[in-house]
Amino acid sequence: MSEDREPGARPVGVPLWSPDARPAPFPASPPLPGVPVPLEADPHDLRADPHDLRADPHDLRADPHDLRADPHDLRADPHDLRADPHEQLCDALRGVRAALLDMDGVVVLKGRPIEGAGQAIASLRARGIPFRFLTNSSLWNRDSLAARLSGAGIGVRADEIVTALSASAALAARRWRDRPIYVLAAPDGLREFDGQWLVGDDEAAQLGRDAPARVAAVVVGDAGPGFTYERLNAAFRLVRGGARLVAVHRNRWWLTPEGETIDSGAFVRALEYACGRRSLLVGKPSPAFFSEALASLWRAGGTVAGDPALDRRDILMVGDDLQSDIAAARRVGLRAAFVLSGKHGPRDLDLARRRGRQGLPDAVATSLAEIVAALG
Ligand SMILES: [Mg+2]
Repeated sequence: MSEDREPGARPVGVPLWSPDARPAPFPASPPLPGVPVPLEADPHDLRADPHDLRADPHDLRADPHDLRADPHDLRADPHDLRADPHEQLCDALRGVRAALLDMDGVVVLKGRPIEGAGQAIASLRARGIPFRFLTNSSLWNRDSLAARLSGAGIGVRADEIVTALSASAALAARRWRDRPIYVLAAPDGLREFDGQWLVGDDEAAQLGRDAPARVAAVVVGDAGPGFTYERLNAAFRLVRGGARLVAVHRNRWWLTPEGETIDSGAFVRALEYACGRRSLLVGKPSPAFFSEALASLWRAGGTVAGDPALDRRDILMVGDDLQSDIAAARRVGLRAAFVLSGKHGPRDLDLARRRGRQGLPDAVATSLAEIVAALG
């Protein structure tokens, strides 16, 4: 009987739901260079069940039993058999004319400058390649950040930095100019909100009890040790009373001189859980945040402004986070280079490749210095 069937036809008598009726799965194909790939579910997208914590999208530990890949050299694409990694990198970056740079893990790590980062920034400037820092780091305002970076040998101006906190302040100024907001952030970072109507801790606590609807929004940034129970409870009451919950970012952790450190995303999640409300995400991986940095590039003039031939694929995002930097940049049509100098490492990249994750980097390098040296 079965010899008479058309190839691939369902065997007679086998129901559709039977395992025997399932077609064999196609093997995963490596992504084609230059072809935008649709992304898998955004781990920061709260449409998914926020109570399902079984799958950790940030847990990219490699399978220790898989010995196929060489863990010591993951810069090269294992599917690309050309020998010279530098040549591959030059090819992958050909045509790049502007850059967006993450900060932590790209130019600084644990509060110290990464080797070669200062020279790389100076080289971009000298060659007329426009750039912007695009960072979720929100402990400081941009003036302080520029001063700290320049003091560490990384010459950058405040107007070349876009932080998740500065974008949050701009959002608040547009939406709630005439209404009070409550901001959880470090004192230096709060200066981004100069001129806006902020309520202090005591007032927030009182309004939370008596008139929470008066407050338009609660903005949660990098408050660090300032994430006290009293402040979080005041924020909780205000959001329950109708204030919009705004997440400067939702990063889970970051690297400080003391090691891996809990980040403000954990407190955003706590408030979301307690309030039963989703937050409005401002920083990476939000597409709007990338648009803000691109707008800053256009406003600045220089070689890219007003150039009708410039495509988003001519703009390179350099980052150390495979989700917030790389996958997010790919999603908005930018080219993306992953550097191994920060948060995620070779094993994370290897596992992402073997899992067939979408939004993989166009290029991989050890550092920003290696990226800049490969730009044509
Ligand atoms: Mg980073």
